[in-house]
Amino acid sequence: MRRAFRFQLRPTVRQTATLTTMLDDHRILYNAGLQERREAWRHPSRTTVRYGDQSAQLTEIRAVDPEQGRWSFSSQQATLRRLDRAMAAFFRRVKAGGKPGYPRFKGRNWFDTVVWPRDGDGCRWDSQPHHPTQTRVRLQAVGHVKVHQHRPVRGTIKTISVKREGRRWYVLLSCDHVPAEPLPATGTAVGVDLGVASLATFSDGRQVDNPRYLAAAADRLAHAQQMLSRKKRGSARRRKAVAKVAGLHRRVRRQRLDLAHRTALGLIREYDLIAVEALRVGNMTRRAAPRPDPDRPGVFLPNGQGAKSGLNRSVLDAGWGVFLDVLRAKAESAGRVVVEVEPAHTSRTCAACGHCAAENRRTQAVFACTACGHAAHADVNAAANILRAGLARQATHSA
Ligand SMILES: [Zn+2]
Repeated sequence: MRRAFRFQLRPTVRQTATLTTMLDDHRILYNAGLQERREAWRHPSRTTVRYGDQSAQLTEIRAVDPEQGRWSFSSQQATLRRLDRAMAAFFRRVKAGGKPGYPRFKGRNWFDTVVWPRDGDGCRWDSQPHHPTQTRVRLQAVGHVKVHQHRPVRGTIKTISVKREGRRWYVLLSCDHVPAEPLPATGTAVGVDLGVASLATFSDGRQVDNPRYLAAAADRLAHAQQMLSRKKRGSARRRKAVAKVAGLHRRVRRQRLDLAHRTALGLIREYDLIAVEALRVGNMTRRAAPRPDPDRPGVFLPNGQGAKSGLNRSVLDAGWGVFLDVLRAKAESAGRVVVEVEPAHTSRTCAACGHCAAENRRTQAVFACTACGHAAHADVNAAANILRAGLARQATHSA
């Protein structure tokens, strides 16, 4: 089983400066690689530059440019591979008939991660193992950086990344072969309906509300983005406004992740089988997703339903994906089963008699079957349908 561990770093002032330079040099490398590919693409012959070509050039670049030469060769290769993936995604969309934007040059605030593909190659986790209390990670040309390790790392470390978030720095470990810690069986199952008013409704009638702080954060974000859109490009005020928007985004992400962890943990403690709707993310966000302005990163274009409600929705929508990811990971580790069912008709089918009609759904909140008279909270009714479909799927799978 694969799992990620994330810890905050406690770099010294000097290390912070070096980490910042490290990010910047990797960003420069990324942009230089992009520049080369761009020119090749614009050339009438439409040459394609490949990762292999750029990786080979890296050796020369390192030899003539001591600034670049001091960083880990492997982390630089990982950066070029990241560019390669961005390009591949671009060409995939072109081939599919879309009109995607060409991958962009990364500005100073838009490149925050450096990856080392292998522990021990340009970086070393737990580089001072004999220290009685302090964990450190050694990063080439940066040194031994203190780690706030709040829980043990298990499994085999595969990749190590360093990420900047605002003024904080984090180390991310991606681990393989993490042993499972199964929970004792409880003999119970639950269906979960994901919604907007409530993050989740369980088939037993309980609900997890989308906390007010998320809606409040969405409002603040909409406001901050509006402010940002009025600032002149290249101005100091604009830079400040960008930082504010980014900070709010980070905060929402953290709060959302926290809520997802708490909700998922409650579910896997209590139930052996958890049935959820298979999310089709495109469907959910289409209604009012604010479109990012292609020329101004972080700024959203107005849309039909207003940037505010769109943003509000997208903040909540994103919560579902995060929640399902966390739930799947925790379930796997605990030996629980998550069954994903097709979301067709779960909201208009009667959980008591199976009668399916749009009229069953009186309002957003009320379900009243026109055939048998069964009445319930609409989300609870949907959750019951999801549970039934999940159990049916599980039965055919294990038969
Ligand atoms: Zn009915």
